[in-house]
Amino acid sequence: MRCLIVGNGAAGVNVAKALREKLPELEIVVLTREDDPYYPRPMLVELLAGAVSEEQLPFYSSPWYQQRRIEVRARTTVEGVDPAAKTVRLRDGVPLAYDQLVLASGCNAFLPPIENNQLPGVFTLRTLADARAIRRWMADSQQAVIVGGGFLGLEAAHSLKRAGLERVVALETSSRLLPRQLDEEGAALLQRLLAEMGVEVWLNASSQAFFGSGKLAGLALADGRRVAAEMALVSTGVRPEVSYLEGSGVETKRGVVVDDHCRTNQPDVYAAGDVAEWRGQLWGIIPAALAQAPVVAAQIAGEDLLFSGIVPSNTLKVVGVDLAIFGEANPQDPDCQQVRVEDPEGRSYVKMVLRDHRVVGAIALNKRKLQAKLAQLVSQRAEMEPGEAERLLEN
Ligand SMILES: Cc1cc2nc3c(=O)[nH]c(=O)nc-3n(C[C@H](O)[C@H](O)[C@H](O)COP(=O)(O)OP(=O)(O)OC[C@H]3O[C@@H](n4cnc5c(N)ncnc54)[C@H](O)[C@@H]3O)c2cc1C
Repeated sequence: MRCLIVGNGAAGVNVAKALREKLPELEIVVLTREDDPYYPRPMLVELLAGAVSEEQLPFYSSPWYQQRRIEVRARTTVEGVDPAAKTVRLRDGVPLAYDQLVLASGCNAFLPPIENNQLPGVFTLRTLADARAIRRWMADSQQAVIVGGGFLGLEAAHSLKRAGLERVVALETSSRLLPRQLDEEGAALLQRLLAEMGVEVWLNASSQAFFGSGKLAGLALADGRRVAAEMALVSTGVRPEVSYLEGSGVETKRGVVVDDHCRTNQPDVYAAGDVAEWRGQLWGIIPAALAQAPVVAAQIAGEDLLFSGIVPSNTLKVVGVDLAIFGEANPQDPDCQQVRVEDPEGRSYVKMVLRDHRVVGAIALNKRKLQAKLAQLVSQRAEMEPGEAERLLEN
């Protein structure tokens, strides 16, 4: 019996690991179009800053794979899937047979149609190869613009600053940072803390055209503002990698549609991680991959385990700014009660969101000691009254 896994990211490697624990005899082959062994993508931000070296990136050593008899074929791109014949087609046209197939192909960075987005000096960051290219270009750059003020954009902006760039400007289209995750108060404080670290944030900034002759010299905004920059990092979200599934019969919407067992609509084909769309949701974070991997392995081993979603959580990894956001932290629902506590010096901010006397969301900005507690309360939807919430946040 052979299980093929498309993708050697958090989802693929954890499916392989869980499968080996359950099925000692199974042949496990991981196919990845990347050159490099599995590394956690959050480390790329550290690599940009120069805080870690490439040697520190691989998560598992070669013996780890050998001991588990997990074969990884690098630089191997899957170009098609034939569920009827139970084969995948590789770039060289050769079909490879499977008994079970796991789609863990993750996402690609999205590059929006800003004019001249192919100019040398314009980058996205998803892979180690991207990070290497950015590092090389940075060596001759003084000014950078980050298009997109989301988590990744802000982390990357801070990394470039740490790496020694003179000026880093992060652009956000909306009127405040992290508009979906963070409220007004939290966003204002975050912007102030970033400014203290040398990251300029421009709000209401809609990018229109990169400019430069032969290479990037800057970016023009729709409202006429211009920012000079020798490099740009576009961080405007990701799109699931489903292109190789065209015509395969595997159902895709935004991602690969899976049920509560992480099964696709095709027999013996499963999906996990960023590429898997469950009940209309794409998570795009590692905890979802970690939660889905054992479900796929259990299914292949003939056991019953359900994926029932995760509580979304995001932490901003910027030295000196400790931001964690859990669950419904910024609901527009008037029935929610929001309990807020800001410290008198305006250096920290915490909030709990209650619905029907239960904790459904929380924000902790520069309040690390409360993070674990808040994560737990949100994931358990713990019962709580506003007075009790306030006392807890004041601690
Ligand atoms: C810079 C950065 C920072 C991040 N920070 C965080 C964070 O702090 N916390 C967090 O939870 N998440 C973070 N994320 C998101 C997180 O990395 C993803 O959720 C995670 O990588 C998803 O894992 P995955 O295995 O589903 O997909 P991926 O990691 O994208 O892996 C997909 C794999 O599929 C392979 N592949 C794709 N198509 C093919 C094909 N046709 N043939 C062969 N191989 C193919 C790729 O080579 C790759 O090995 C970050 C992402 C980035 C880029």
